[in-house]
Amino acid sequence: MWKAFYYLPAAYRNQFLTPKALKALQEKRLKYLVDLAYRNTSLYRSKFKAAGITPSDITTLDDITKIPLVRKQEIKASFPEGMVTPGFSEANCKVGTTSGTSGNILRILFDYEAWSRLNAVALRNYFAHGVRPWHRFCIVCSSPAEYESVSASPFSRTVGILEKEPESLAEDIRIINPFVVGAHPTTLVGLCKAIEKTDISGIQPGIVLIGGEVAYPSWREYIEKTLKTTTINKYGATEVNSIAWECSHGSMHLDADSVIVEFIKEGEQVAPGELGEVVVTNLWNVAMPFIRYRLGDVAVPLDELCSCGRGLPIIKELEGRLDDVIVLPSKELVPSTRICPLFHRIPQVAEFGIVQDSISHVAIRIVPHGEFTEHAESTLRTRIQNVLGSSVDIDITVVDQLERTTSSKFKRIRRTFDVQVL
Ligand SMILES: [Zn+2]
Repeated sequence: MWKAFYYLPAAYRNQFLTPKALKALQEKRLKYLVDLAYRNTSLYRSKFKAAGITPSDITTLDDITKIPLVRKQEIKASFPEGMVTPGFSEANCKVGTTSGTSGNILRILFDYEAWSRLNAVALRNYFAHGVRPWHRFCIVCSSPAEYESVSASPFSRTVGILEKEPESLAEDIRIINPFVVGAHPTTLVGLCKAIEKTDISGIQPGIVLIGGEVAYPSWREYIEKTLKTTTINKYGATEVNSIAWECSHGSMHLDADSVIVEFIKEGEQVAPGELGEVVVTNLWNVAMPFIRYRLGDVAVPLDELCSCGRGLPIIKELEGRLDDVIVLPSKELVPSTRICPLFHRIPQVAEFGIVQDSISHVAIRIVPHGEFTEHAESTLRTRIQNVLGSSVDIDITVVDQLERTTSSKFKRIRRTFDVQVL
């Protein structure tokens, strides 16, 4: 764990490298990893062979597009024999576990060198916001798998708590009295509502880390106002650790010195400003290489540098999960960030859920706040129709409550069918 501090100076310097130097670093590590994975793992070897390539075909960073994409199910099916580098096992690695339904959990082995480097990158990002090793963290976890991974934090004063009813969650956080609170935005909004409703006081963290789902600006304002603090957006995944984080200038920087992030649509890298599926390559994990791994999130890359002086590339905020987007008959993707704010602007909507049950039909359920008038419905319908276009039919139903999925986490957009758009 302490080795993360050994790698911290390098991680600190790397964020100010030029884009060209960062690309050179990525290219060098990519070539090493490709060769390693080809020689040692049957999964990558068979995928390379199927694509008619060998490691000698990967000489520049641009050649990465020759490598086939890999899905979670393939890795799960090949674990451990076909995916783990010989010499590594759960006995001599750090083990991470992805969240998900029980049949879909993936175990990930990190060799300790990689684990330390990845944690150094995460530390660098916290340091930029004034967090220091002696500060207490409180991370609210939505699943036992997440709870398990929190215990591996390089910050020794990290307390993980499992999500519970907002009132008792608020009480727990008050007692822990952390400098950093980390949670899903939905959880934080529930927490803030509980704080407003009850007389719980004394919760005033130095910063709030938000992640795990899309954070709408209006939610962030509400959380910041209620907790009298600032919110920092972070984006990571168990498979590769930190992927992107928000600097004090408000840009989401990619951790380009530890992960290659691509944005893919229809098999090609998208142009800057376009929405694509996030595909990651972990540059350091030798024990279990992740090369062109499909994460299932969607985001928009940008072709500009931040005024903070960091050379790390930036993205527009995360736009949600691939299964959270609405797919139009034209195959255009409409992310939740374009749909959900339409509901927030209508005061008669307390809660809402959207189910796309066919390529041309969307069913919307509204839990009203007071009376849901005809005027409110027609306003909402017009706004949604403007975004989705005339090729999608919309049904709006008023209900008393919404069906919840696992735990208290609620998916606002759900698609009941799969489409191959990427
Ligand atoms: Zn910046």
